[in-house]
Parts: sequence; C-alpha cells; structure tokens
Amino acid sequence: MNLGLRISKNYNSKSYLNNNFINFAVVDLDKSKNYPANFVCLLSRIINTKKNQQSKFSSLFGDESKLIAKQLLTHALKSEADLENRKAIRDRLKLLDPKPIIHANCQVCNKPFELNKRRFKQHKMCYECYQKRIE
Ligand SMILES: [Zn+2]
Repeated sequence: MNLGLRISKNYNSKSYLNNNFINFAVVDLDKSKNYPANFVCLLSRIINTKKNQQSKFSSLFGDESKLIAKQLLTHALKSEADLENRKAIRDRLKLLDPKPIIHANCQVCNKPFELNKRRFKQHKMCYECYQKRIE
C-alpha cells in the first residue's frame, strides 16, 4: 500500500456551516492514481481505537491508526497550498496530540489537582473547594 490523502471541500453539505466541510479521504496510490478507484476509507476526525467506537479507518489500521493518521497529515501539510485545507490539517494534527494535563496545588486546601485552564483560571482551586465556595 502507498497511502495518501485526498482532501476535498464539500460546499453543498450542511457541514459547511459547522466548519466541517473539508473531507479527508485515504487513498491507496498503488491501487490506482485516480479517485475514487483508489479510495480506501475516510479519515475520521477523531481516531478512536476502542473496539466498539471504531471508524473504518481505525478498524483497518488498528493500533497503528494514530501513527498513520499523523504521517498522512504531516505529509499532506507539506504539499498543500490551500489555506483552508492547511488549517484543517493542522486542526486534525492537534486533535491527535492530546493536551498535557496541567497539575496545580489548590490555593485553599493545598491538594494537587488537574487544572482545567478555562474553568479554573481565576480560581486556582480544586473542584471540591470550588463547589464549597459557590454553594
Ligand atoms: Zn482544594
């Protein structure tokens, strides 16, 4: 298999409104140079390798799914000139790299907790102390 990505825009779709109108199709260039003869499957937005939530992509590539998705996207980014497509590729690459969890010590009880930046920016306290305060 010689895999590649075929990125296309779907302006007719409702998904255009959700900013989700760029389709990522995985193609096998050994099969054919022409689309859709070389179509393998769609590259799902979220790569889930859990058995019951698998997309076609992750059922085909199993544990390698994330790695292969990353390689395909990184490679596509090098040759892609369209700005919207480039942004979509970068968004997907970000989804493949989960954000590191930030730990902080609660300013009230001093216990370490997972900092959810957006929610606890001003509070810097753990969830229990936050709950007590707002009750
Ligand atoms: Zn606390």
